[in-house]
Amino acid sequence: MLYNQILVRFGDLTLKGKNQKTFLRALYRLMETKMEGLDVEIEYQHDRIFIHLLDEDVNKVIERLNLVSGISSYSLVVKCSDQIDDIKKTALELMKDVVKTTATFKVNTKRANKNYPLHSMEITKHVSGYVLSNHQGLKVDVHTPEVELNIEVRRDAAYLYNTNIRALGGFPVGVAGKGLLMLSGGIDSPVAGVLAMKQGIEIECVHFESTPLTSIESAQKVVDLVKKMAKYAPHNKINIHMVPFKELHMALLDNVDESYNITIMRRMMYRIATEIAKRNNCLCLINGESVGQVASQTLGSMLTINSVTNYPVVRPLCTYDKVDIIAMSRKIDCYELSIKPFEDCCTVYVPKAPATAPKLDRAEHYESLFDWKTLLDEAVENTQAITISTDSDLDLSMLGLEVREVLKELKENK
Ligand code: ATP
Ligand code: MG
Repeated sequence: MLYNQILVRFGDLTLKGKNQKTFLRALYRLMETKMEGLDVEIEYQHDRIFIHLLDEDVNKVIERLNLVSGISSYSLVVKCSDQIDDIKKTALELMKDVVKTTATFKVNTKRANKNYPLHSMEITKHVSGYVLSNHQGLKVDVHTPEVELNIEVRRDAAYLYNTNIRALGGFPVGVAGKGLLMLSGGIDSPVAGVLAMKQGIEIECVHFESTPLTSIESAQKVVDLVKKMAKYAPHNKINIHMVPFKELHMALLDNVDESYNITIMRRMMYRIATEIAKRNNCLCLINGESVGQVASQTLGSMLTINSVTNYPVVRPLCTYDKVDIIAMSRKIDCYELSIKPFEDCCTVYVPKAPATAPKLDRAEHYESLFDWKTLLDEAVENTQAITISTDSDLDLSMLGLEVREVLKELKENK
């Protein structure tokens, strides 16, 4: 393996004025967590990070690197001394490794060390001349080369690379504060959660579970999804608040006209989520809604549902097509789990004709027909939080009880 380090860039982060220090500190900390246990040495500079590979498998490092939000791109790099002969030899070795038959190429040189005896153009000339005369398959094309060879001459050494791989982007998770993700067992909400983390929002999750109306497997699925998402979290762990939703759910099924079931159910979810957000210092709600996918997600519906909260609701998927959401779901390794066919509270008793443009006054009217406030307070009070980490092995069904009982046992055994 020719490469001995990875050059990590963080683009926009360095432009953020007085927040810069906070951002960098968060990024460095995140980097440390994600690289834990790997045989690498991390060198922090003000505008980039170098990961020295030591004896580590480069693919393993890249896999971890792809979990770090706030990184814009990275390159596999060969470091050599800044002696021009050494640069030439290393360049040839690299090009032989990358181009086995024929290709057009171009050399780009940047010289950070202004005291270096050769100018950038001179370095480029020396190196391309040498490489051309020792690699028969190469031809120069400065406009549309198939391969680029980048050389950076810095104070201590020269760095050579020819890839620039896009990373997760965004901001280090946590710098934007905390948000509460409404997490179902479906495809959309885990994707929304990871996108929010990518943008710097640390997340906690809330799940409304209606066991035994719904199966324990559907609750397990949610726990397993949190475990997948935890890979992106600051300390590889995420809290999930399990809300016992059955009583409220049954009461609304009994009292509300079928066409408004979903509207009222979601208004209850938003109310509870807002209360849990408040209690846990979350500054916004996050969910997997996308405009127009189902009856409860038309703009008219969102207006009537959203009016129960004054918290900002972040909807990262709002304008995405389902195919794009599925692609992202696969990328974060949640898809196979998400499509497991366990019903959740949104899929039991689905009304035949849900209102697609529910009116606020009708919604309020139905809510006046039963004492939802008491049930809602109870649900909030009996909510239980669990912390799920990337290596947690919580198996709810092992205990053979309904979710409430399992959670109680977990709490007592703590
Ligand atoms: P998903 O694929 O995330 O389930 P969906 O397209 O099935 O979304 P809905 O079931 O209408 O749409 O849910 C919309 C959003 O509401 C979800 O993305 C999630 O954020 C939230 N949500 C729905 N059900 C629950 C639940 N039981 N607990 C927590 N949040 C939920
Ligand atoms: Mg769903």
